[in-house]
Amino acid sequence: ATPTALLVGSGRAAQLGVVIKGPEVLESTRALDTVVLDKTGTVTTGRMSLDVEHDVHLADPGTPGREGPAPHAPLSIREVLALAGAVEALSEHPVAAAVTEAARTADPEGRAGSSSRLGLVEDFASHEGRGVVGRVEGREVLVGGPRWLSERGLDLADGLRAALESAQDTGATAVVVAVDGRAEAVLAVRDTVRRSSPAAVARLRELGLRPVLLTGDNERAAAHVARVVGIDGPDVHAGVLPADKREVVAALQARGAVVGMVGDGVNDAAALAQAGTRGLGMAMGTGTDVAIEAADITLVRADLEAVVAAVSVSRATLRVIK
Ligand code: ADP
Ligand code: MG
Repeated sequence: ATPTALLVGSGRAAQLGVVIKGPEVLESTRALDTVVLDKTGTVTTGRMSLDVEHDVHLADPGTPGREGPAPHAPLSIREVLALAGAVEALSEHPVAAAVTEAARTADPEGRAGSSSRLGLVEDFASHEGRGVVGRVEGREVLVGGPRWLSERGLDLADGLRAALESAQDTGATAVVVAVDGRAEAVLAVRDTVRRSSPAAVARLRELGLRPVLLTGDNERAAAHVARVVGIDGPDVHAGVLPADKREVVAALQARGAVVGMVGDGVNDAAALAQAGTRGLGMAMGTGTDVAIEAADITLVRADLEAVVAAVSVSRATLRVIK
C-alpha cells in the first residue's frame, strides 16, 4: 500500500462521512468479516419516547408489595411519572430522556423532570445497563429493567408481568418503576429503527460480512429489531451487561472472526476497544465522547450506510494499490 493511495482513500472516506484515525485503519477495515452492531442509538435512532396515554401500565391497586399489603395509597399515572421523572432527570440514558419528557407532558405545571426544582432526589445511584435509584420526598424510587428489579428482590404482579411481556413483544424497552419496594408501573419506552438500517445490513451481508446484534436490552425487544433489519436468531445477543459486551467481541475473535464493532454509548467503549485489537471499533458521530475515543473510525453521518461506505472505500483503495 503506497502512502499516497492510502491518503487518497482516507480523503475519499472523509467525504463519505467516515473519519479514520490513521491511514492504516483502511487495512483493518478491509480485513473485517463480522460486524457487531449495538442496538440502541446505532441500529435504532436512540431517541426514545413514551406515550403518557398508552405506554404506562399501572399495577392493580389491590396487589400487595414485597412485605404484604401495599405500602402506600395507589399512585396515579401522573404521580408515578413524577417520581420516576425526578430520578431519571439525573441520568443521561435514552430511557431517562423519554421518562422525564413524559413526566413533563403529564404534568406541565409540575416539578417532575426538574431535579433542581424538586431538589429532593437523595442517594441517587445509576447502575450501568440496569437502571437508576433515588430517594424522592422520602420515598425510594427505582426505575430499571425487569431483571435488575428481580435481582433486588422485587416481584411483578401478574398484571404487570403481562403488560411487560406484551410491550416487549412489540419491540419496546420495558422498564419498571418501583416505589418503596412495590412495583407500581411498567413503562413501555419506544425507539425507532433507523430507516437506512435494513438496507445497510443487507448490503453488509452482500459484501460478505456477518452482522451480529449486541444489546443490553431485553431479548424480545432485541428479537423485534433483529427481525426488522434481518439478523438471524443465533447472531442476536441480548441482556448483555456493559462489562460483558467486551466479552462477546472477544469470544467472536477467539473463534477467528475479525470484528468491526459499531456503537455509540459509554457502555460500548470497552467492546469498541476490544474490537480494535484485531479489527476495529466504529463510533457513531452522535455518540458519547468515550465511544468516539475508544474507536478507530467515527461515522459522522450516524447511520449504518457509513459502515458500508467504509468497507467499500477500503476495498477499492487497497485493490488499486495491489
Ligand atoms: P443498550 O445496550 O441497548 O444501549 P444499556 O446497556 O444502556 O442498553 O441498558 C440496558 C437496559 O438497562 C435498558 O434496556 C434498561 O432496561 C436498563 N436501564 C439502563 N439505564 C436505565 C435508566 N436510566 N433508566 C431505566 N432503565 C435503564
Ligand atoms: Mg447504544
